Amino acid sequence: MNSNNDEVLHCPYNKYHRIASSKFQRHLVKCEKNFPSDYKVICPYNATHRLSKSEIEEHINTCPMRRIVEGSYIRPPTTHGMIRSEQNDSTSQIDYNSYWGSQEEI
Ligand SMILES: [Zn+2]
Ligand SMILES: [Zn+2]
Repeated sequence: MNSNNDEVLHCPYNKYHRIASSKFQRHLVKCEKNFPSDYKVICPYNATHRLSKSEIEEHINTCPMRRIVEGSYIRPPTTHGMIRSEQNDSTSQIDYNSYWGSQEEI
């Protein structure tokens, strides 16, 4: 066996399970069957990150995979939001002008 490069990871379901990283995903698939499906929540950024419901929110904020995943597809929603706020600005300007204009005439 010359698997020196394999990092040994702890199973999120049982801390006494120690699995080489190359077999980790396969182990999770087997091991998760011994637990209810909502026992652990799967990280949206990496399927091998499994956390309890109380931990998942904090993990999503700190997940090391997050920057890599978000950097690739977060741009379209941002430009869409900018177009929207520009439209809102121009319509509210017209409203203000007509409002104050009619008040001064009276
Ligand atoms: Zn396990
Ligand atoms: Zn994660």
